[in-house]
Amino acid sequence: NVISNHMPTAELQALDTAHHMHPFTAGAELAKTGARIITGANGVTLTDSEGHQILDAMAGLWCVNIGYGRHELADAAARQMKELPYYNTFFQTSHVPVIALSAKLAELAPNDLNHVFYAGSGSEANDTNIRLVRHYWAIKGQPNKNIIISRKNAYHGSTLGGGSLGGMSGMQNQGVPVIPGIHHIDQPDWWSEGGDKTPEEFGLERARQLEAAILELGADRVGAFIAEPVQGAGGVIIPPSTYWPEIQRICDEHGILLIADEVICGFGRTGHWFGTDYYGIRPHIMAIAKGLSSGYAPIGGSLVCDDVAETIAQAGDFNHGYTYSGHPVACAVALENLRIMQEEKIVENVAQDTGPYLKAKWESLTAHPLVGEAKIVGMMGSIALTPHKESRAKFAADAGTVGLACRTRCFANGLVMRHVGDRMVISPPLVITKAEIDTLIERALLSLDETL
Ligand code: PLP
Repeated sequence: NVISNHMPTAELQALDTAHHMHPFTAGAELAKTGARIITGANGVTLTDSEGHQILDAMAGLWCVNIGYGRHELADAAARQMKELPYYNTFFQTSHVPVIALSAKLAELAPNDLNHVFYAGSGSEANDTNIRLVRHYWAIKGQPNKNIIISRKNAYHGSTLGGGSLGGMSGMQNQGVPVIPGIHHIDQPDWWSEGGDKTPEEFGLERARQLEAAILELGADRVGAFIAEPVQGAGGVIIPPSTYWPEIQRICDEHGILLIADEVICGFGRTGHWFGTDYYGIRPHIMAIAKGLSSGYAPIGGSLVCDDVAETIAQAGDFNHGYTYSGHPVACAVALENLRIMQEEKIVENVAQDTGPYLKAKWESLTAHPLVGEAKIVGMMGSIALTPHKESRAKFAADAGTVGLACRTRCFANGLVMRHVGDRMVISPPLVITKAEIDTLIERALLSLDETL
């Protein structure tokens, strides 16, 4: 009774719903429809158990930056598994893949982010970031400087720490109180919340909420501000141009550590190695995961500046770590991924060639009657669906219903786009070609027509 790709889809679906609890999924609903079962993938294209070919405009979960089917990464994993499948990095031990990856990341990262603390995922990296910030300020003699300011509708992971940093009420309403010492301010979503203000005015106003919160709580109590350069899971909210420079000024003036959550934006997504490079900001700590290995192996981490890393190193043991911190196989896969990205100039290509091509096509979607705002940075974009463009109206009665309908049409038309409420978002593999971008846009337009 071997369970394999050759089993009928309905049988696989029945076993799936009987035994597998899916993340972020209504289990009872899924039991009625059955999951779509993906059996293989190559480049930007998925194959499902019924033989459909689907263009994956989400790169899995924003992670398969290099595209599917790169056997070099499988070979790197196999080589490393044979040589040294596991060893830990605790208690004064190390190994070559973790040393090589750390040196490579220090070379790629901006400013003096020269140190890496590894995790198995982005959520764990953000838990580490909470520990780093609080430990750092305690060593500096300011144990009360332990509040971390974050943003509503942000996503920083699903652990207790990550979920508390994040601002998704849907998660926090499910019996998981936000851990103490986290404070949320509003997001810079001009389309939904900007009212009569220009995007620039609104960007400044929302950034200054950070300053107001610091003044209210006390700069001696606020240790850090954390944000995604572009809010991803919140609906690809691209901030107005005034937002990040003002945030940087506020963090500098009030002595607050800046944490950039680069879990989505990192590794080429914006057409730069990091979202912070795109915005010219100088974080003290970055969370990384996803594109680090293009999703081929689970790995995440915190990139840490000299001051924070050296302060912590001088203070004795940092009592924190995961069994899989710096896992040799994941490190070997990440290294191979980064080697290919550099050799094939994937980030440069997004910045100079395919990114601008996608941007022009994506922004032209505003000609469609359902589409209000269409925004994109590098290869992460969103469109806001609206019943009335001029007033930037929402489908008030049942936010998300139209988005869900559009996503369902996309699926039927061979395209994975995600919906966040009534925003449709894309984040395709960075290797998508111009011909594939044409296909993406054609299928998106067809699906929008069918959603009308
Ligand atoms: N931070 C951001 C910005 C993310 O988008 C995500 C996941 O989507 C995470 C953190 C959590 O990462 P993981 O799912 O690897 O724990």
